[in-house]
Amino acid sequence: MKSKFHPDKNGYFGQFGGAFIPELLHPNVKELADNYVQIIESEEFQTEYKSLLKEYVGRPTPLYLAQRLSDKHGAHIYLKREDLCHTGAHKINNTVGQILIAKKLGKTKIIAETGAGQHGVATATVCALMGLECTVFMGEKDIVRQAPNVTRMKMLGAKVIPATSGSKTLKDATNEAIRYWIQHPETFYLIGSVVGPAPHPDMVARLQAIISEEMKWQLKEKTGKENPDTIIACVGGGSNAAGAFYHYLDDEDVELIAVEAAGLGVHSGESAATSQLGQVGIIHGSKTILMQDKYGQIVEPYSISAGLDYPGVGPLHAFLYETGRAKFMSATDQEALDAAFELTKIEGIIPALETAHALAVLDKITFRKDQVVVINLSGRGDKDLEIYTKYLEA
Ligand SMILES: *Cc1c(COP(=O)(O)O)cnc(C)c1O
Repeated sequence: MKSKFHPDKNGYFGQFGGAFIPELLHPNVKELADNYVQIIESEEFQTEYKSLLKEYVGRPTPLYLAQRLSDKHGAHIYLKREDLCHTGAHKINNTVGQILIAKKLGKTKIIAETGAGQHGVATATVCALMGLECTVFMGEKDIVRQAPNVTRMKMLGAKVIPATSGSKTLKDATNEAIRYWIQHPETFYLIGSVVGPAPHPDMVARLQAIISEEMKWQLKEKTGKENPDTIIACVGGGSNAAGAFYHYLDDEDVELIAVEAAGLGVHSGESAATSQLGQVGIIHGSKTILMQDKYGQIVEPYSISAGLDYPGVGPLHAFLYETGRAKFMSATDQEALDAAFELTKIEGIIPALETAHALAVLDKITFRKDQVVVINLSGRGDKDLEIYTKYLEA
């Protein structure tokens, strides 16, 4: 079925997307663009991908009715438990799929960027599983604030290269990865979100779509209907949201809410609320909405959560924003911290700081009593314990 939310043949969602890359990368990107749909739709890929998702990742992840959270907010709130995936977040759905595609294309060397380290760990994991060489670029600041994930990547055999430019976070790690890719075009760039040059945004969305594929039958089982009223997900680059929204994009009666990180406040100058602050521009090979000054220089983003600390959103999300198909909200550092502690206290689930932003908007919405809400619980909070410890002591 053709959806207006699927990209055209050049990788555009409306005016957003495309592949703005140097000449040297054209053969590789074209090879991927020419083959990824056929590979993903092949029976051989589907069999291997679905088997790994089940036996290795631990899918399907539960769709859990959070009763006490529901009582508090006066709605039926379900949590899609991506935090229970192997390696602790949704990122592995994508890396398992891309590593199979890389192998199919005969690639042996994998590179990746990472913010919170979750994508780096998920990439290093599948490289260990398949015996492929793995190099991960990570901002120097993130290497410090997400130290346990650095150890994990090294144990898994990956080389971790610090990005020392700019704000030393995700954007800078991505710049370094792209620079390396240009110098080594034979490597496979295993991008961690629905960002980058086409076909990456669409490829990653298709690989994360398993989230909403499962939601459909799980909701049918639990509520009698495949469709919820509302889906809420946090947005860094946008992959967990893309996965949770994917099979509902054309069902306009399902409200989609994307939550960005407001940092110290949307207008504080220390934020990553891209849709509210951004304009159309080009970042990391794709035309999208990004935070920039009047000279087109990228504004350094800020968020307490490394996974949301990114000045752009993927082109699909820029299109969802522009068309109004998704509603964009934001949560500050403080609101996210409060929400993380609340979920832990009343449901016994410690969420990732990124995920906590999605939870934080519950307080900003008035629900109907019978409203069915799904929150995509993108990851678990182990990696954020140092920040949670500080909050506990404050
Ligand atoms: C990486 C990450 C995010 C943000 O990335 P998206 O591509 O927007 O999903 C959100 N939550 C968790 C737990 C993450 O690891």
